[in-house]
Order: sequence, then structure tokens, then C-alpha cells
Amino acid sequence: MKHFIIIGPPGAGKGTQAKLMVEKYNLRHISTGDLLRAEIKAGTKLGQMAKALIDDGNFVPDEMVLKLVKSEIAHHPDASGFVFDGFPRTTTQASAFESYLKSLGMDVNGVISIIISDETVMERIHHRALIEDRKDDMRDEIIRNRITTYHAKTEPLIDYYKKQEKYHEIDGEGTIEDIFAKISLLIERLSR
Ligand code: ADP
Repeated sequence: MKHFIIIGPPGAGKGTQAKLMVEKYNLRHISTGDLLRAEIKAGTKLGQMAKALIDDGNFVPDEMVLKLVKSEIAHHPDASGFVFDGFPRTTTQASAFESYLKSLGMDVNGVISIIISDETVMERIHHRALIEDRKDDMRDEIIRNRITTYHAKTEPLIDYYKKQEKYHEIDGEGTIEDIFAKISLLIERLSR
């Protein structure tokens, strides 16, 4: 089994690239953002707790996403591998996740970090706001909060995974196809 993590600021194209990886390498996509939005839509208790936090551009509690991720993994014992998109986002999530995977005899093969500038994040999210109906994409103040949170809480994961020699950077400023070509080369190298 091959397991990959995609990290990057909001609007970096994590979801887009994860979907392409799923198709080409027969992996299963686990996006905590998508899972949370599904909980909100279904009106579950967890969804109700998450809604205000997400709409304001804040993270939901670590235990909440860990619960969702564990349940997704447990429900797909036949998966040939997973792409974790938008998870882990804090070092607390990363270490809890590492212990959980270990208990299952699993390990992360590689962490793909998509690098884009804060200006590109703004442009991409303004564009996405015209296509998708996400409250957290509507106001600049909220987008800026998500960018700041990324730098403060998620960037520490770079060192975390560098220490484990799992960290790989991809320049996220090109076309979808260009970026995917670079990711494909990386995955093939890591799968050897
Ligand atoms: P984006 O990467 O563009 O912000 P996502 O769909 O990945 O979009 O996430 C949307 C929101 O869901 C985040 O801003 C956050 O509120 C919440 N969320 C998603 N994943 C996590 C996580 N691993 N930990 C905490 N909150 C999360």
C-alpha cells in the first residue's frame, strides 16, 4: 500500500491534484475539507459543531478530523493506498496520525508540499468563489485568516516530515497538467 499526504495553503490545488493521483495510481482520496462539508450537509452533530469554525476560516478541533480520518481508513480496508488531502494540518494531528497508522502496520510514503505565493492564493480563491459556493471563500478577511493559520499551524509540518525524510516540494504556480506531471514523476520515484 502506498500512502501520500498533500499539504499546501488553501487554494494550492491540493484537491485537484489529489483527484488526478487517485485516477492514475488507483488510490483513495481522503479530504478532510470534503468530509467536513459532507457532515455539514448531512446536518450531523459533528457538522453542526464544525460549520461556524469553517465559515470563519478557523480549523476544527484536531480530535474531530482524526475521528473522520480513522473512520474513512477503517471503512476501506481494500484500498490500495490513500491520498490524504488537507490532513494533517497541525503537528498534533501529524503525531496522532503517525501512531494510528503504525498501529495498523501502515506508514506514509511521501509528503507532497505544493508551494504557491500568498498572492496566488488570493487570486485562486477569488476565482473559486465564482464557481463553488463556499462561505469561507467569500470574504478577503477570512481568506487572509486561513493563509495566516496555514503559516502558523501547518508550516511546522515541513520540519516534522523533513526530519523523517518524507518531505518533497512541488512548485504549484504552473498549469494543472504541468504540476501533475511533476507529481507523477515524484510518485513514481517514491514507489520504486
Ligand atoms: P482549503 O485547503 O482550500 O482551505 P479544505 O476543503 O481543505 O480547503 O478545508 C476547508 C476548511 O475545513 C478549513 O479551512 C478548516 O476549517 C477545515 N479543515 C479541513 N481539514 C482540516 C484539518 N485537518 N484540521 C482542521 N481543520 C480542517
